[in-house]
This record gives sequence, C-alpha cells and structure tokens, in this order.
Amino acid sequence: MNRFLDFVHRSPSAFHAVHTLSAMLDAAGFVRLDEGSSFALVPGGRYYLTRNLSSIIALTIPDSGFAPFVIVASHSDSPTFKLKPHHEEEALGQYIRLNVERYGGMIMSTWLDRPLGIAGRALVRENGRLRTRLIDLGRDAALIPNMPIHFNREINDGYKFNPQIDLLPLYGDVQAKGALAREIAALCNAEPENVVSADLFLYNRTPGSVWGAQGEYFSCPRIDDLECAYTSLQAFLSAQHGPHISVFAVFDNEEVGSGTKQGADSSLLTDVLARTAAALDASDAELRAALCRSFMASADNAHAVHPNHPEKYDADNRVFMNGGVVIKHNANQKYTTDAVSSAIFSEICARAGVPVQHFTNRSDVLGGSTLGNIANTHLSMNTVDIGLAQLAMHSCYETAGSKDVEYMIRALRALYESDLRVLSDGEYAI
Ligand code: ZN
Repeated sequence: MNRFLDFVHRSPSAFHAVHTLSAMLDAAGFVRLDEGSSFALVPGGRYYLTRNLSSIIALTIPDSGFAPFVIVASHSDSPTFKLKPHHEEEALGQYIRLNVERYGGMIMSTWLDRPLGIAGRALVRENGRLRTRLIDLGRDAALIPNMPIHFNREINDGYKFNPQIDLLPLYGDVQAKGALAREIAALCNAEPENVVSADLFLYNRTPGSVWGAQGEYFSCPRIDDLECAYTSLQAFLSAQHGPHISVFAVFDNEEVGSGTKQGADSSLLTDVLARTAAALDASDAELRAALCRSFMASADNAHAVHPNHPEKYDADNRVFMNGGVVIKHNANQKYTTDAVSSAIFSEICARAGVPVQHFTNRSDVLGGSTLGNIANTHLSMNTVDIGLAQLAMHSCYETAGSKDVEYMIRALRALYESDLRVLSDGEYAI
C-alpha cells in the first residue's frame, strides 16, 4: 500500500508518471527503444519505449520468438488545471494569481482550499538545442481560495463554479511577479529567457492516507488511473510470462478523449506491435493472425457504490471496494467486455483466487467511457474492460480499497502468466 502511495507521490503529472514507470523498467533491466530508430529485438528480450514522454509501452518477447499478444492498458493522466502560456496575472495591485484552464472533467469544488503544487515539463534552449526538463516545484505553491459563506450564501445549495473566475489559484503577493518563471528556470538550470515553452499543471499536494476502522480504505490524488498503471506494472514485472508477447501500455490523454499523437486513439499501439512483428521477422499475414489470437485488458477504475447514494447504482450489478477486480459491461460497448472476454478473464481470476465483481450502470444513467473501445477501433482483438472499485472519481482526492491493490496485481500477473490460446473463433484454452 505504501509503495503505491509513494508511486503516486512521485507521479504528480503524466510526464512524471511515465518517468517513474520508466525508472522501474530500467531497474528491472528493460532496454529502452527509440521510436525514431529501427527496432533490434531478439527472442527473450525485454524492451520499452515512450512517446511524448507521457505514454509508455513495454514488452517481453518469449524465447520462441514472435507470438500473439497479451496486453494490459491503462492511462497516465488525471483531471487537473493547465497553466496558460501567459499565466501570471496581477490582481488589485496586491496579488499574483495564475491563469489556468481545465484539463478533463474534474469535480471543481474539490480543488479549493488545498495546497497545490505545479508540475509538468519545459523545453529549454541549451547549446543550440531544445531539451525537455521535467518540472516539479515540490512544494506548496498555490491555492484556490473559497469565498466566505457570508458573501456566497448559496454555496451549499449547488453553486455553479465559473472556471475563469472562481478557480484561478493565488500564487503570491505582488512581490511574486516573475517569481514562478525564475523558479522554473532555476529548476532547469537555465536563464528564464531560455525556457522556451512548458506544459505545466496544478496538482494536489495532500499526502495519501490509509484510513478506516482497520485501514480498509485509502485516499490520495490520481487513483484514477495510477492505481491500474501501478498494479499492471507490478504484475508485468513479477510475472513468469506465458508463451505470448506480454505488453504493458499506459496512454496519456484518456481524460480528454484519447485523440492525441500519444493517446489510445493514435497509431501508437498499432505501430509498436507491427514494428515488433517486423523486427522478429513475422510477415504481415502472421501479424494479423497473431492479433486474432491476442487478448487485451483495458484497466481503468470503476465506481464503487456510494454509501450515501445507493439509488444511483444498478441494483444487481454494483461493486464495492475490497470486493476484487471489477469487470465493466455496457450493452452499447462503451466498455468492450463481452461474454468471451468476460469468461476468459473470469477464469484467469478464479485460478488466481481473485474475486471478481460485475459492473453496469443503471439503464437511466449515462456512464463514462474509457480507452478499451477506442484502442479496439485500431486493433481488433478480444478485450475486457476492468478496474478497481473507487469512490469520488475525478475528485482531486479519491478513495479506494486497500485490499484491491493486491487483488489487481495477482489477477494481472495470472493473465500475463496464462497460456491463453484461441483454438478457433469461439473456442479458447487458458
Ligand atoms: Zn480513468
């Protein structure tokens, strides 16, 4: 549990999450590939690459060489606020506040009255080159203050926040003019004029906490979806992989629709799998046959029943924290799960001794979507949508079950270790 909270602490932005995941793969001896160069892969090899430094794909090749793929995909980003290019705003001759815009669909009220940090990346001019530097102020740097109730009597009656008015964080007094640019430049070991551009985001500095009568719950920022990114990497690194190519993938930009060059709706996964096949001397026909025999788990968290609002959840298909891995279903295929992928994944969980729960939305509630069905439009293969049950999704301080971290690691390890075979269209061996 504490190792997961430490992972979250070291991952204040999608760039940092991918940096942290990369460091864990480096420590495990994985070889870093460069998408801009040719892939030199050998049977038994273990590799990874990043795109935009905010999405990452790792793979292990079996000793027997090219084979079908077993993929677990999650996402590195979470709803937050992004600093605009010109973000320093003087107010009333007294304050410096930051002009920010929303990234993704957050619960706005949760961002108020909390110490906030600033993290992301900067492009720095160095000896005639542009170099990326990861930035994390690593301190309580800003705060979005609420209005006092005396001036906003309707605050408890459903107040509508205006993001351009209510949600601009205070950064300092008027002496703070230029201070953020200087602090970022100092973190880059550069002069302020050499910091050419940056992607900077606010993050909640509140430390993670394990709580409840017996420590059964934990809360921290960005559980959606760092919990799946972390547990899938732990499973990937600890598995004795089966006779397939195991793939660990974490995509950026799920919270804004995945439609970026590094998102699940890009060519990233297709590119990597096709180039892997080519590097292992598999023909295009062999690649297409292997894809038909491949399997993907799209891992993104699910909604646990809220104790105060059980009426919002389906009566028969609702899930609870610490109840095990959730399989998500949707008749309109917002979730990719069908009888085939649900059966295969359930069998694997049963063998691993991991409990499984099934989730659907109420039929009169429009649910969210995730990356599985988007990735499936590029790569058609049997895919199951899974996650762990959590409360307060898209709050800047979310809550989940302490036991579930281990359940997910065990389930995904069993998936990577399985000898999953598609015998024909409709018949499967595990
Ligand atoms: Zn998510």
